[in-house]
Amino acid sequence: MAAPRIAVAGGGLAGLAAALDLTGAGCEVHLFERSRLLGGRATSFEIDGHTVDNGQHVYLACCTEFTGFVERAGMADALYLQDRFDVTVYSHGVRSELRAANLPAPWHLLASIIAYRHLNFRRKLQLTRALIALSREKAPQGNFAHWLRQHGQGDETLRAFWDPFMVPALNAPLEAMSAAEAAFVIRTAFLGDRGAARFGYSKVPLAQIMEAAARDLASVRRGTAVAAMETYDGGVRLRTADSQDDVFDAIVLALPPRALQRVLGEPNRFGVTDLDKYETSAIVDVHLWHDRGRLDFDFCALLDSPVQWIFQKGDGYLCCSLSAAGALVSTPTGDVVGAMWREVSAALPELRDAQLVRGAVTRNPEGTYNARPGTVRPAARTLDSRVTIAGSWTATGWPDTMESAVRSGREAARALLEQNAWTTKL
Ligand SMILES: Cc1cc2nc3c(=O)[nH]c(=O)nc-3n(C[C@H](O)[C@H](O)[C@H](O)COP(=O)(O)OP(=O)(O)OC[C@H]3O[C@@H](n4cnc5c(N)ncnc54)[C@H](O)[C@@H]3O)c2cc1C
Repeated sequence: MAAPRIAVAGGGLAGLAAALDLTGAGCEVHLFERSRLLGGRATSFEIDGHTVDNGQHVYLACCTEFTGFVERAGMADALYLQDRFDVTVYSHGVRSELRAANLPAPWHLLASIIAYRHLNFRRKLQLTRALIALSREKAPQGNFAHWLRQHGQGDETLRAFWDPFMVPALNAPLEAMSAAEAAFVIRTAFLGDRGAARFGYSKVPLAQIMEAAARDLASVRRGTAVAAMETYDGGVRLRTADSQDDVFDAIVLALPPRALQRVLGEPNRFGVTDLDKYETSAIVDVHLWHDRGRLDFDFCALLDSPVQWIFQKGDGYLCCSLSAAGALVSTPTGDVVGAMWREVSAALPELRDAQLVRGAVTRNPEGTYNARPGTVRPAARTLDSRVTIAGSWTATGWPDTMESAVRSGREAARALLEQNAWTTKL
């Protein structure tokens, strides 16, 4: 029997993870991606002759499905991962470290808090109490800012710990973050396993990983949006935006919620609901090239600054990541670069009197998709066994992250393989 022909719509991490697994299972996979680039929100492109990521992407050691995906793509060497959780935090030029101690969790973290210079002793105690409460509370309710206040966290503790770690993790201000999701992140990263919160990132442009993942697919149709699909007795008929029709045995729809709604036409027929119940939250990255060469950190957090994290991407090249940054999406590039350079050069002692050589801004108004309270995120399976859905915003149990995207894609592939008779013949 010929290998089943499977279409994957959407060449982000979710679609690529599904495509990789389906190819590995012996299917003939055809990928349709609206953009010329692969990787969706986790991609790279050239600005003024420099290849930059669409935005700085970080993973934690607990993101095992993401790292597994990169390994299966043959790119394991592209990833950097810390030996231990070790983060530099600057406040008004004063530097301090949060560094995991050689103790079992959660003591590894609590010991690092003792040495943290940006909180006084009383606030460190309050922070420790809140972390312990989070580890015990099964299902914290309401928004996280409220939960933190209820657990004795004052402005200083929000500023020096909760803001820099949680706002980028969930790409939302504390007031807009669900306490349950925040608790999941804290438990998974900090309270379960001593190594789980180690930071990692790609040492190569993200697009290289995505291209490698697509290498063995039967075809990759770039610049080709899927406009519609319908199921019929023989399989799935797909129509592209340039009015090409093709037929497949099954399809994975790895699209953002609104695009999925358009392609499904009537999502209810597939048992998929609530696709209009996602808020988007912007992420803005500011790329700064300066004349001081290599600085003394790989990445660091800045307190009291719209620049939350700075990553040193190369000698003299800093990428500043600003989460929940909706206000900056329409600000002119020159203004954003100027303002962020002033922030960074004032905060980092090594950059006093440095000159900015060049700056660029990457803007993602739809940085992440957050389900409104009460929304049920859809699972991979639909009412039709030949159609599955994937995306970092679907019901993976994780917030909208690369880990969630890969998990969703793998689950969508697994569901197709389990549900369809042709797989018994693979
Ligand atoms: C700037 C930025 C920084 C981030 N930082 C981090 C981080 O540090 N750590 C982390 O874990 N996560 C981070 N994220 C989130 C992470 O990038 C996403 O969770 C993940 O990449 C989503 O993958 P996805 O495949 O689900 O969705 P997407 O990447 O959105 O992929 C969907 C794909 O579908 C395509 N598409 C849309 N419509 C159609 C159509 N009709 N036909 C065909 N194709 C279509 C799109 O072009 C896109 O390629 C960040 C996101 C941004 C924007």
